[in-house]
Formats: sequence, C-alpha cells, structure tokens
Amino acid sequence: MAKNIGIDLGTTNSCISYLEGRDALIVPNPEGARVIPSVLAQTHDKKRIFGNAAKRQMITNSKNTIWGIKRLIGRKFNSPEIKEIGKRVGYDIVEAENGDIKIKLAEKLYSTEEISGMFLTYLKNIAENYLGEAIGDTVITVPAFFNDAQRQATKVAGEIAGLNVTRIINEPTAALISYGQKIKKNGLYAVYDLGGGTFDISIVEVNGDIYKVVSTLGDTFLGGSDFDAQVCDWIFHEVERESTVDLRDSKDIVQRVIQIAEKAKIELSFDQETLISIPYLHHFSDGSNYHFQKKLTRPQLESFTMDFIDRSVDLIKSSLGDINVKPEQIERIILVGGQSRMPVIYQKLSEYFGKPPDIQINPEEAVAQGAALQAEIIKGKVRDLLLLDVTPLSLGVETKGDTFTKIIERNATIPTKKTMVFTTITDNQTTVKIQVLQGERATASGNKSLGFFNLVGIPQTLKGIPQIDVTFEIDANGIVRASAQDKATGLTQSMKIQPSSGLSPEEIETIIQDAQKYEEKDKMELRLTRDKLQLKEEWETVKFYYQRYIEKLSPHDSAEIDALITRTEKALEGKDVELLETLLNKMKSYRIMINSILTAEFSK
Ligand code: AMP
Repeated sequence: MAKNIGIDLGTTNSCISYLEGRDALIVPNPEGARVIPSVLAQTHDKKRIFGNAAKRQMITNSKNTIWGIKRLIGRKFNSPEIKEIGKRVGYDIVEAENGDIKIKLAEKLYSTEEISGMFLTYLKNIAENYLGEAIGDTVITVPAFFNDAQRQATKVAGEIAGLNVTRIINEPTAALISYGQKIKKNGLYAVYDLGGGTFDISIVEVNGDIYKVVSTLGDTFLGGSDFDAQVCDWIFHEVERESTVDLRDSKDIVQRVIQIAEKAKIELSFDQETLISIPYLHHFSDGSNYHFQKKLTRPQLESFTMDFIDRSVDLIKSSLGDINVKPEQIERIILVGGQSRMPVIYQKLSEYFGKPPDIQINPEEAVAQGAALQAEIIKGKVRDLLLLDVTPLSLGVETKGDTFTKIIERNATIPTKKTMVFTTITDNQTTVKIQVLQGERATASGNKSLGFFNLVGIPQTLKGIPQIDVTFEIDANGIVRASAQDKATGLTQSMKIQPSSGLSPEEIETIIQDAQKYEEKDKMELRLTRDKLQLKEEWETVKFYYQRYIEKLSPHDSAEIDALITRTEKALEGKDVELLETLLNKMKSYRIMINSILTAEFSK
C-alpha cells in the first residue's frame, strides 16, 4: 500500500506529513529533525547534498549552495526583486534566452523547476525511507498569493521529482484544515502566515464542514529572510564603523553573517538581548584580525523590522476592507510560519484585532499536516471538508487601448468558469488575438501575461457583429485554462497556460529522467546516513555498558564485543552500507544480550 503525503515546500524550511489514523504525523529527516532546510548543494567532490547537511556547508561553498528557490520559481529574470535576491545569495542567477531564470550549480544551468524538483526528490526519498513504502499521492502547498505561473512551476517540480501531485493548495487553507478539529464555532477566521520568504493573510468563512476562503492577499517578497537581511545590514554597518572595512561584497562572508543574523533574530523571540560574536571576521594585511562582538536588543530588532510588520498589517486591513469586515468580527486569528513567532507580531495583532492570536498549533508543521489531510480528503479516506479556495488575482484579457478587461475577479471561489462575449474591432477582421493576463492593474501592460492564442477563421463581416465567447476556467489547483469560440461558426481555440519557464512536456520528461538518475544515488546517501546514526547510537550504548560492566561478561563475549567496538568505530568513518548494516545487527544482538545479563544480575 502506498502512503499519501502532504508537503509544505517552504522558502526556508520544508515539512512532510502523513496520516496515521486521524492524526497527521510529521516525517523526520534521517537526523531526526521535523523541519528540513530547503537547501541543496553540490560539494567540491561532486556530491549532491540536501537539507541540514547542505545548510551546514553553505558558508564554505556558497556558490554551489542553493537556498530560497521558492522566491525565484515561476518568475522572469527581469522582475525587480530578482536583482535584490541576487545580491544576497552566493549562487549565480542568470537570464535564459527567453527571459527565464536559470540557476548555476556546479557550472551547469538549471531551471528553477529542476532545482525545486531535485529538492522534492530528496523529500520523497526521506518519506519513502521513513515510511518504508512507496509514496502514493502528494499534495503540495503554495502561498495563497502565488500566481498561475508559480503554481504551474511548483506542479512541474513535483512531476520532476516523480511525485503524483493531486492538488496544489494554499498554505493558509492547509493550516486551517489542520486546525479544523479545534474549530467549534462558525464564523470568520484569519490566517496570518509569515514564513521565511512570503506573507499571506487569508480570511476564511467556516460554516460547519464548509471552509470558504473569502479574501486573500499577500506579498511574495515579505518574510523572515527580509528580517535577517535587516540584522545583517546592521552588522555590516557596525563593522564598517568600527573597522572601516566594508565586507558586503564578499559572498562567503555575507552567507556567514546571514546565518548568524537569523540565529540572533530567533534568540530575540525568547530573550530581550543577545550577544552577536563573529570571531575572525576580517584579516587585515598587517596580520591582525577583526572580531565582531556586539549586543543586539529586542527593541532594536523591532525598530529595524517594524516596516515589514506594518506592511503585513496594512495587507490585513486591505483584505478585510475587500469584504467589508471589521477586525472585531474575526472569530480567531491563527498564526502560521516561523517568523510569526516574533513577540511583537503577537502584540500588534492583539491590538489590531482586539483579541490575542491563537497559538495552539505549531506554526511550522500545521501547513504540511493540512496538506496530508487534504491528500486523504481527495482520496475520500477522510471526512470531506469542503474546501473552497479563492483565486488571489484577477484574470482577464487585453482589449482595445491597452485595457485590462477582467473575466474572473480576484477572490472568486475556485474551481470557477466564466464566459464573456467579445467582438471584432475592425471590419472584415478574421483573427482575434486573446492575450491572457493576470493581475490587478487597469492597463493590460501593467499585468502579468500568461500567454496568448489566436482564434482564426472568423467569417468576414462588419466590426462588432461577430460574437466571440471567451471562457476562463480555474481548476482546484488554481491553474488556468482559456478558450475562445466564435458563436456563429462554433470555431473554438483553447490553451492551457504553460508554466512560465515554458518547459515543453518533452523537456520536463528529460528532466524527470535526469532526476531519476540521481534518485538511486540519493536513496543510498539517505540509507547511509540513517544506518550510521543508528549504528552510532548502538555503538555508544554498547560501549558504555561494556566499559562499566566488563567483569560481568564472559571472556569470550568480552573479546567479541571489544573487537566489534573497534570495527564499528572504523566502519563509521567509511561508506560501506552493507558492512554498517551487518555491524548494526550484531551490535543490536549484543546490546540485547548485555541487557539480559544485567537484568538478571541486578534482580538477584
Ligand atoms: P517557515 O518558512 O515557516 O519555516 O519560517 C521560517 C522563518 O521563520 C525563518 O525566517 C526563520 O528565521 C523564522 N523563525 C523561526 N523561528 C522563529 C522564532 N522563534 N522567532 C522569529 N523567527 C523565527
């Protein structure tokens, strides 16, 4: 039997969940961590590593360590924010011929979908390894405010990883699904989701088993890493003041400082002040060294980052304004995303809503748990919560004079299908170009183009006579289809919006095959890590008992165990999985044997 899983594919961290009975449980990584850093790297000896292992070596291998990919996926190279991100990350972001983003990893260029796909393959392997069975269906979450291109790209990344992605759902909705059991009262619930890279606010109307997202707004460039960047700026500013050197151009140093800044920021959620120490930050040409050491206080951090928090509150105001709801009408406020743990955010939201936010759910795990529940809801294995999501952005077409004519308004419940009638603008016009746009600007050029198609073969006649039905459809994943039909002839043309990377199905197939090539290798790595950890644990336990109670063992057993301890110590340095597993079995049986000798001994 295959297990269905939910994946919260985060900017900073990711989390996997599955259902056991009615409980959504978390899949830990081989080191036992419940959230997994969304980082991958290629090491100097050409090994692909992921998660914590990749994060740990980020400073010394910043050029080939990819993090924050979620901020890039489904975007074009010339988006204004990409330049800013380029300054912060150690790897190279380059422009593909068609304006897409390519990432350089070990001198090879990859699309963002491929990178994300590699990481999802790693998550899939972790889940398979842990659950001991193949993965069935997968639900992946995305920020509610992700546009069509970003959703499509996430789905493609899942396909590259060989996952059967049955649904892409919004993170805040997922959080609410996992919170569901605690909902006793109908009403409006606000989900405030501030993760590593993105912010979403969603207002959800709960009516029995029906969860309807009635408003959603967000900012895909507002998250914990912006908070870290502020602390980083402060550190560099202080360094410059004290030592007159500007270290902002050294990518390796920036990576090192970012990690320290994040740690300090998190500490300030628990303490009023923290000491930031960075020894040997700079070596002067005269041989002396510069060590950074400074105290950072919680009020300082708050003042650096208050603009971000205010921006999030402004978005809440707009989303409530969109549906004419006052803050006090909100039943409960649910916090999601690691950055929402910052105490001043709790205070600000308490003031704004007139009641404290709920902190009953784990903000880092709730989204994955909701996704796992959704995977089972789709399968019909769990009581059907009717999940009515909304589209975060309006969809429409370009009409005369660079006008954006909306066909589906933002906040429309999805799945949805809407048709509008258009006509020709010149006499004898036989072709109509349907330019599909997504966004909120009044001008067509101000919005994001999802692509275009032509309806050809309209019979010649006077302008304004033909009647052309343009239909837009958004499925439950938030993915768009568009079609046009000439009413007189029945002539139809349609398009499924291609992912922004423009990857063709053939290209996706090649990427999938490439990913499969790595799959075996990655699985082996995971097996090695898991075996080593288990063996080390057994080895430490047996060694402990052996040294303490050697006199209680027979000379034969004692010699055997002694030899085994030495062999294991050596094997732990190597990579021979078979040997590790043989030793693990032996170690286990010796531990059981020692245990029974000691139990018998002590019960005498
Ligand atoms: P997520 O994407 O939900 O895993 O959120 C990750 C972000 O939350 C990162 O920017 C973390 O630095 C941040 N974060 C995690 N724990 C805390 C905390 N206790 N206080 C402030 N920020 C935190």
